[in-house]
Amino acid sequence: MSLFTTITTPNNVKIEQPLGLFIDNEWVKTEQTIDVIDPSTGKKITSVFSAGSKEVDLAVDAANKAFTNPDWSDLTGSERGDYLYKFYEIIKRDAAKIASIESLNNGKPYEAECLVGDIVETYEVFKYYAGWSDKHTGQFIGSQVLGRNKICYVDPVPLGAVAGIVPWNFPFLMMAWKIAPALATGNTLVMKSSEITPLTALYYGKIALEAGLPKGVLNIISGYGKDAGAALSLHPKLAKIAFTGSTATGKKIMESAGSSNMKKVSLECGGKSPFIIFDDCDMESVLEWAYSGIFYNKGEVCTSTSRFYVQDKIYDEFITKFVEYTEKNSVVKGPFEKGCTIGPLVSDLQYAKVKKYVDIGKKEGAKLVTGEFIDGPGYFCKPFIFVDCNEEMTIMKDEIFGPVVAISKFSTVEEVIKKANNTTYGLAAALFSNNITKAHNVASKLQAGMVWINSNGDSDIHVPFGGDKMSGIGRELGSYALDLFTQQRAIHVNLRLPY
Ligand code: NAD
Repeated sequence: MSLFTTITTPNNVKIEQPLGLFIDNEWVKTEQTIDVIDPSTGKKITSVFSAGSKEVDLAVDAANKAFTNPDWSDLTGSERGDYLYKFYEIIKRDAAKIASIESLNNGKPYEAECLVGDIVETYEVFKYYAGWSDKHTGQFIGSQVLGRNKICYVDPVPLGAVAGIVPWNFPFLMMAWKIAPALATGNTLVMKSSEITPLTALYYGKIALEAGLPKGVLNIISGYGKDAGAALSLHPKLAKIAFTGSTATGKKIMESAGSSNMKKVSLECGGKSPFIIFDDCDMESVLEWAYSGIFYNKGEVCTSTSRFYVQDKIYDEFITKFVEYTEKNSVVKGPFEKGCTIGPLVSDLQYAKVKKYVDIGKKEGAKLVTGEFIDGPGYFCKPFIFVDCNEEMTIMKDEIFGPVVAISKFSTVEEVIKKANNTTYGLAAALFSNNITKAHNVASKLQAGMVWINSNGDSDIHVPFGGDKMSGIGRELGSYALDLFTQQRAIHVNLRLPY
C-alpha cells in the first residue's frame, strides 16, 4: 500500500489523501492497516496505516525531541502565533476539500453542516489561539504582598510532549480544540484520531509541512483505541493526555495515567443532557432549537439534549408540533445530496447501537410516535421521537448518541430540576421560558458545565466548554484551554542578600 491515494468525493472534489502516520514530519508505513468505510454505502473508501506501540514510541520520542529543540522551544509567543495563523490560512483556503473528505468519512451533511459549521469553526480556532500565543503572560507577586525581602513571579510554562485522543463525531474540529491551545502555549503533540474517521486528521500533517512547523512538534497517528490509544495513555514519556470520547474510555485513561507516570488528564466525555420547556415559552422558537438540539449531526453530539421535559399544560401541543416539525425538516439522504439535513449514522456499530436502544424503548413502554430505519446500503434512519417516558426507562438514562429523543412531562419547577439532575452526567442543559428570573434561577441549579437559556447546543470558541460530574474534567476553548496545557512555575526571589 502506498503512502498517498487520490480520492474523488461525490461532489467531484479531488484530494491527495495521506494514508501513513505523520511522525517527525515524515509519512510512515506500518504493518497493520485500518479500512475506512463510507457510511452512505457501507463500502470501503480506502485503508490507512495504523499505529501499534512501536509507532507510538516513535511519535512520543519525536515530540519529546522537538520540545527541547531550540527551533521550537526558543520561539517567542508571537512566533508560535505565526505558525497557528498559517494553519488558519491553509485550512480556510482548503475548506471545501477538507469538508468534502470529512462528509464522505463521517456522513454529516456537506453543505448544511460540515462546510459552514465544522470547518469554519476549525480555522477560527486556529486564528483565535494564534492571538493568545503571546498573551498568556503569568503573574508578578510583589514585595507589598510577600514582605520587603521577597518577590515572586509565576511563569505559565508548557507541560512538554502531550497527547490528544479524539472521537469520530467532529473529527477535524476536535483535533483543533487540542492542537491550537497546546501549540500556542509551547507544547509538542501526538494526536490520535478515531479508527472510524482517520482521514481529515492526516490532513493536519500536510498543513504542518506547508506551514513549515519544525519536525516532531505535531505528530498525527491513526490507530485503534485498544492499541495506540492505550499505549499513549500508559506512556511514561508523555506529560498529559487531553481526551474527548466516551465516559467509559475516559475512566480507563485516568486509570492508565495514574498507574504510569501520573500524567495530567483532561477529559471531555459523554452526556445525557436535559431540555426543559416551560409553558411560558415561545413555542415557535422552541421547535427550532428542540430540533437542532437533538438531531443536529444525526444526534451524534456529546451535548445533544436527548431528554426533553415539557410542562404539562403545553405537553400535547408541543408533541404534535414537534413531530410535524421533525418530519418536515428531516431530509434523510446522502451527505452530498441537495437539501440533506440528516446523513447516515457514522458506522454499522453505531447503527446497531441505535437499533438496540429503539427496541429497548419500545419494550419498556415508551411510545414511539415517529422514526424508522431505512434499508441499506448505508446506515440511514429517520429521527426517532419517544413520548410518555419516565425516569426509570433506559432511554432516559443512557447516552444513545444518535437521533433518538425521549420526552416526558412535568408539573412544577422543583420537580423538573430534580429530574434534570437525575443523571450521572453533567455536560449540558437547556431551558426555554419567557420569565427571565425563573430561567436564571433554574439555570443556576442545573448540574451541568453549560446551560442554554432560550437556545440549545450553542458553542463558541471564546466560551469554556466542558462537563460536570461524569462528563469530564477541565474546560476547553476560551482562555481556559491555555491552563489545560500549562503548569504554573512559581519563582521565589530572595532580596535579603547583601549588595
Ligand atoms: P470512544 O471513547 O469509543 O473513542 C474515543 C477515542 O478514544 C477514539 O480515538 C478511540 O480510538 C480511543 N480509545 C478507545 N479505547 C481506548 C482506550 N482503551 N485507551 C485509549 N484510547 C481509547 O468514543 P467515540 O465512540 O469515538 O465517541 C463518542 C463519545 O464521545 C460519546 O460518549 C460522546 O459524548 C463523546 N464526546 C464528547 C465530547 C465532549 O466534548 N464532551 C465531544 C465529542 C464526543
